Amino acid sequence: MFYQCPKCKRVWQYPLAKCPECFLGLERMKSEKIKVSGVSKVNIPTILHPKTPYFVLLLEDENGNKWVQKSVKEYKIGEEFKTEKSDSKDAVAVWRVKYDILEGIEKLVELIGGLKVSPETKILILPTLVSPKHSYFAENTSPEFLGTTIDYLIKRGAKIENIKVAGQSFDEIPIEACAKKSGLLDICLKNKVQVLDLSKSNFAKKDNFEISEEVFSADLLINLPILKVGKASASENLFRQLKKENYLGLKYLSSEKEIIENLLKFLLARQSESKGGPPILTLAEAQNVQKRDKFVAYLGLVFGSFNSLNLDRVFAEITMTKLPEILKNVKIEEIPILGRKVEELQYEINE
Ligand SMILES: [Zn+2]
Repeated sequence: MFYQCPKCKRVWQYPLAKCPECFLGLERMKSEKIKVSGVSKVNIPTILHPKTPYFVLLLEDENGNKWVQKSVKEYKIGEEFKTEKSDSKDAVAVWRVKYDILEGIEKLVELIGGLKVSPETKILILPTLVSPKHSYFAENTSPEFLGTTIDYLIKRGAKIENIKVAGQSFDEIPIEACAKKSGLLDICLKNKVQVLDLSKSNFAKKDNFEISEEVFSADLLINLPILKVGKASASENLFRQLKKENYLGLKYLSSEKEIIENLLKFLLARQSESKGGPPILTLAEAQNVQKRDKFVAYLGLVFGSFNSLNLDRVFAEITMTKLPEILKNVKIEEIPILGRKVEELQYEINE
């Protein structure tokens, strides 16, 4: 993505608030047709790029804008550079985000087959909201990621009054404290988005589950987790649509792995039979990720998928961690991975 001043036509590779010459807001320039205009092969491994050889491509778009990108595939100069897309509900898209989260979200949704949004679409957003901590601890979804997701939905035609942001506490800490300290409440207030404490909603009994009725009155559920190393954060976040006592009861009787498998099976069946189950799109933040020791490392990635387990599995592969129990049955070789290649991004983030 490039940014151009509408008056003097100067171009930047990062989104400045205003052109420093003309003081005008910059316009976004999308790259449509991309070709390879230079290739160099790297044979020396470094900490952030342990797998060699790889290639550094100099890419150029139809506007003459140039940038570099890492690739595990060798290209010839002059060759067209294309990013594969898929309509598979099991596909996982990965994209690198430097400055522009909006570009990342647009790219993810485009790669996994698009999304139907209209002014009537009722949208329920479920961010990670588990701890009364500031955003730099990477415990909760960041205010920037939530804010940009709301901007994206509005840009796609959604109406602000049809968007709700929901959460609920599964421990003794009041959800209000988490919402306030994490900065997520401010973003909702700023955007005039309705905030819901799901524990105060009605729950409908479906099979073994008691699921918030807010989920079934939505046309689209956006699971908006922040990913953490060694965890299946995207899938675990979906537990928050259950009634707390129901979740704790199920956890007492079986493993989280069984609960999530059955819950997803149930929700997917509702979707395909169009009996009022909304599609669940996971957009996951992995720009700053919390490691096992709770320190935060920079990864600079975002992930998108209609399959949260596959998304968690691809994240575990990129961060090269031991698989949590919940992901043991998910086979990486069966997941269509789009956008960036695992080998390009992989490095051991843990130690
Ligand atoms: Zn200018």
